[in-house]
This record gives sequence, structure tokens and C-alpha cells, in this order.
Amino acid sequence: MYRLQKEGFEAYLVGGCVRDLLLGREPKDFDVATNADPEQVRKVFRNCRLIGRRFRLAHVHFGREVIEVATFRGAAEQQNDMQVLNKDGRLLRDNVYGTIEEDVWRRDFTVNALYYNIKNFSVVDYVGGMDDHKAGTLRLIGDPETRFREDPVRMLRAVRFAVKLGFKLHGDCAQSIHTSAELLYSIPPARLYDEVLKLFLSGYALQTFEALRHYGLFQILFPDTEKSLATEDNGFPRLLLIKALENSDNRIAEGKTVTAYFLLSAFLWEPYQLRAKELMSKGQAEYVAYQEAANDVLARQVKSTALPRHISLAIREVWGLQPKFNYCFGPRPGRLLTHPRFRAAFDFLLLRADTGGAEAELANWWTRFQFADEAEQLKMTKPPRKRANAKSGRKRTYRKKSTDKDA
Ligand code: ATP
Ligand code: MG
Repeated sequence: MYRLQKEGFEAYLVGGCVRDLLLGREPKDFDVATNADPEQVRKVFRNCRLIGRRFRLAHVHFGREVIEVATFRGAAEQQNDMQVLNKDGRLLRDNVYGTIEEDVWRRDFTVNALYYNIKNFSVVDYVGGMDDHKAGTLRLIGDPETRFREDPVRMLRAVRFAVKLGFKLHGDCAQSIHTSAELLYSIPPARLYDEVLKLFLSGYALQTFEALRHYGLFQILFPDTEKSLATEDNGFPRLLLIKALENSDNRIAEGKTVTAYFLLSAFLWEPYQLRAKELMSKGQAEYVAYQEAANDVLARQVKSTALPRHISLAIREVWGLQPKFNYCFGPRPGRLLTHPRFRAAFDFLLLRADTGGAEAELANWWTRFQFADEAEQLKMTKPPRKRANAKSGRKRTYRKKSTDKDA
């Protein structure tokens, strides 16, 4: 900001960082608003990249930090080819530049529209954001329906911020989400995937999940999961996802990392199970049914939220490794330990065991096995006496096969 000012431009801190600092929280990142246009920003900073088409921005890199520098947006009425709305009133491009007085009306919530001025260390507030902030109210600037039509993702942002800040959604805004939820179907799946990561990987996953369901937004992001939640498992509600969300929040609170694919494996686990059972009931063999169920469920999910390829591959692996935990004898358990996805798959097994989907004894066995020394592991995987027959049985088939081949 000092650098921009030295070059004769205005620069303010704005958005989440001001809002979070006022709550005494450490901001996740810093956003700067300026009257310099993106090209001018690039000239001021060597370490700067311009990104975004719909909404052009400068990313200024300082070591590992990225500061998002946005040029003040102009008034909504000045439509030309730099600002494009589709027939539903959705903003397809928004690159009309203006002044801070115009920019403020383009922001989503009043508490996100506070500008911190380094010239006199004051907060500039045109929309009553400070009052809302004090009252803990998340209020859209302007008419909620219009603002949601312009950008339906604001509904997801509303839920995310309300949960994260512990703010209450203003009545008009809450009301409007119920009636506008379906607008989210028009958002490209890739953008919804990015939003899903923000919704569920920032430490408030469980509350966010409940709020999204309350507002009818969850079913748009995860239609099959929503359907599976309506069914029961032998008279019990399906708890695996809830437990996964809880665990992930706890991990974040402890400063540990969480991975998107693990959580998504949990989101789609029940639909995957239901689909596999459906295929088996139609006579499909178990192994094939699970393969096909994974294909079907993932193919359907990417229509709602895109899934990068490495993520869907990892989800498949976590799922595919689950039956392998049932083999506790011979060399197979040892081999499973060296699988690159063992850790995640094992955590997933714990999750299943925790929620009645796998034997607790099995989970305990694997917990002991992975920390046992080599001699102990050998002992643990030694087939019991009864198994000796089975082993000789296997030998016989092998011999038979080889004679077949010889013949
Ligand atoms: P976070 O803590 O998640 O970073 P944030 O409020 O900073 O929250 P960003 O996505 O970083 O959110 O956006 C920065 C600011 O840009 C917002 O505070 C808001 O003023 C504005 N903004 C971002 N996305 C939108 C949007 N879809 N519609 C209107 N204004 C937006
Ligand atoms: Mg931000």
C-alpha cells in the first residue's frame, strides 16, 4: 500500500482482513483496493501477476504471501463491453473501473466493505458496515435478490461468513437464499469446487454443512449425498459424514492439515455404498459393482462440483483400499502398509469403525499392526491352525493350474 501511495495512487486494505482484524482474529489473507488499474499495478511491482477474466485482479507476491490487489470497480449502470450480464442478470464480466465511492456498492456484505486507510489509520465505512459488525449481522449491500442474481455464489459466501464469524444472516438475506438457491445451478462446476474447498476446509465444516442444508444449498452441491442422508442404514441415521466433518474441524483446531480428497471420500461414501448395493441386487458381482459404483458416483458428482483428476483418483484409492483391510494373514497386510494411500485409507477405516460401518476389532488390529516391530508383525499375520487346510487347498489349485498349463 505504501508503494502504491508513493507512486501517487490510493490504496486501502479491504474485505476479510479488515473484518477479521476488527474481531481480533488473524486474517487469512490480505486484499488491497486501489485506483491504479491492473496494468498500472503491474508496473509498480516486479513480483506481480494479473489473473482472472471475469474479474481482473493483480496478485502481488511477497515470498510465500500473495496480496490480492483489486482496482476499484465502477458503478453498475455504466454497462459496456467491460461489464457483461447474462439474460438472468448474472455478471459474466466486471471490469469497469471507478472510485472508492463506486467500488463500495459492488462488494457483497456490509462488513466486507470496510476500507482501512493507512494515511490516517481510519476505517472508511459508506454502508453501515461498522454497525453491522458490532451487532454481528451479515447484511448484503443493496437488494438481496438482485445481488444473488448477479452472483449466486454470494449465497455460499453468506453461509460461510455467517458460520465462520458467528454472525447472524440478516432476515432479508436469509429469506432470499431460500428463494434463490436454484440460481446456483448456473455456476460452472469448477467455481463451485473452489467454493466447496473454502466451505469445508476452514475449520467450521460441521456447522457449515448444517447451515447449507438448512438453506437448501447443500443439495445443489452434493445431490447424491443429500439423497443418501434421507435414507437410514439398518434403522440408524448415516453418521460417517458428520463424524468426518467433526474430525476435520478438530484437526484444524489442533493445527493439523486436512485434505480435500479425504473429506470428499466421506461425502460420497454413502452414495457409493448405495449404488454398489443397487448394482449387486441386480446381479452384478461384488468387485465389479464397487468399481462401477465409483465410476457412477464420481461421474455424477462432477456435474455439480468439478473434481480435479488427482482428487477423484485419490477418492477411488481410499475407497478401493477398504476391503483390503479384511485380510489379516500372510504378506498382504505388510504390503498394504507400504501403499502410498495407506494412511488416509486407514483413517477412513477408523471413521467407518467409529460409526458402525466396520468392526472395531479390525480397526484395533490395524492400529496395533502398523506400530508393531517386524517379529510381532510376523506373529500377527501368521495364519491360525484352522487356516492350514485352506492353505493346502490353495496349493492344490495352484498345482492343478500348472498342470493345465503344461498340458
Ligand atoms: P476470506 O476471509 O475468505 O478471504 P474475504 O471477505 O476476504 O474473506 P475474498 O474472497 O478474499 O473474501 O474477497 C475479498 C473481498 O472482495 C470481499 O470481502 C468482498 O468485499 C469482495 N468480494 C469477493 N467476492 C465477491 C463477490 N462474489 N461479490 C461481491 N464482492 C465480492
Ligand atoms: Mg480475503
